[in-house]
Amino acid sequence: MSEKFYITTPIYYVNDKPHIGHAYTTIAADVLARFHRSKHHDVLFLTGTDEHGDKVAESAKKQGMKIDEFVDKYAGEFENTFKNLNIQHDIFMRTTMPEHDASVQIFMQKLKDADALYEGEYRGLYCRGCEDFYMEKDLVDGKCPVHNVAPEIVKEKNWFFKLESYLPQVKKLIEEGKIIIEPASRKNEVLGLFKQGLKDFSVTRERVKWGLNFPGSDQKIYVWVEALQNYISAIGYGRDDMKFKKWWPADVHLMAKDIIKFHAVYWPAMLIAAGEEPPKKIFAHGFFSLDGKKMSKSLGNVIDPNELVKKFGADATRYLLLSQFPFGQDGDIKESKFVEQYNADLANGLGNLVSRTANLIEKNNLEMRIEQSGDGHHELVEQTISEMRFDDALKLIRQKISDANKYLDERHPWKMTDATAISEVMTLLVRDILSIARALKPFMPGTSERIVTQFTAAKILKGTPLFPRIVEQAGKSARP
Ligand SMILES: [Zn+2]
Repeated sequence: MSEKFYITTPIYYVNDKPHIGHAYTTIAADVLARFHRSKHHDVLFLTGTDEHGDKVAESAKKQGMKIDEFVDKYAGEFENTFKNLNIQHDIFMRTTMPEHDASVQIFMQKLKDADALYEGEYRGLYCRGCEDFYMEKDLVDGKCPVHNVAPEIVKEKNWFFKLESYLPQVKKLIEEGKIIIEPASRKNEVLGLFKQGLKDFSVTRERVKWGLNFPGSDQKIYVWVEALQNYISAIGYGRDDMKFKKWWPADVHLMAKDIIKFHAVYWPAMLIAAGEEPPKKIFAHGFFSLDGKKMSKSLGNVIDPNELVKKFGADATRYLLLSQFPFGQDGDIKESKFVEQYNADLANGLGNLVSRTANLIEKNNLEMRIEQSGDGHHELVEQTISEMRFDDALKLIRQKISDANKYLDERHPWKMTDATAISEVMTLLVRDILSIARALKPFMPGTSERIVTQFTAAKILKGTPLFPRIVEQAGKSARP
């Protein structure tokens, strides 16, 4: 049996349209999933949408829509965007699906039966925007640091999860690397949370209306607690034991760093309490700013990934986003440089290499029979992808493209007259191009396929350019 690889993105909140932050996480997960498929691993790639909570209900009301129509619309926007980005997920899980509810009921009951839950009174400072409670010390001038709004004082009788009882076990698993947290800086951050002290937390809400019922009560399950369970409901927890045993534990939970506490502390503790294994790895990537500014609606600099796809195509969008800065760190994305980079790396770099080589083969009427094969360069690229160093992998590929272009310039086969010599040069170039296409496959699947088809055909023809140059004119850009 081949090795299994189960990778997840967070499920995305459906109170707005997807932005490039969602695209960034999902493209990275897709690259990893495609990479593991290319290694003939048995891959399951899960993504989806988080559709409960008051914020969703309020957004629906604001837009004058029924909640179920509203969540359908926005879940559809996410699915469409992922399709446009050529994301090949296996499951798109929505928390409004009855299967999700069924698994959640079983899991919550399990926690109850394991005596991991108790009833208590909750008094807290609640920010509706965050759907989270705040400690006095975390407020800024008495206001939520994210929303700049004073939180409400809320008193409820809730069910609580005995987090404190499971903390030593979770901490030990993280320290021993049985739950891997990457990058290393994030691991330290999480271990720091244990030092600061973590408290039992309430897993139900009295005032929330749009959510899943807590077993044997008229309260709703806290949206975070329920959302995390999509990782197991998607693979049939409590409903399909064979399927669940095959895929769990997840090999990687991928996310942005702001939600690491839920994934690295709360989630493993809940799983342990329910008698399940924790996830093997949690990888939290960094935040990015856009042209030096924080991305926000009020600044009007939110980028719609669909607009990028319209302008550059799916493959180039994937390339541009992942090549900006090291995955895992914070960084800045300069949209203003996207056209320049597209023209330099893709139109001139890869595009020119491919068209010049194919052109020379066609002109000289050469017969080429070259198959894709592995080489040292490819092994290096694979190593970097498996370590989620996507920008390094793309750097290695860029270097190979530039070396091949240089080789072509130096040997200038267009000046050669000896057919054998020309053929030798072109054979090396086609080998390089096929190797580049193979390395690019997880990142730019469509481009990779086009190149392989072109250079393994019985007759290699010049064809149309892979990446037509984009010319910027007076504020707008157009493909010629
Ligand atoms: Zn808030």
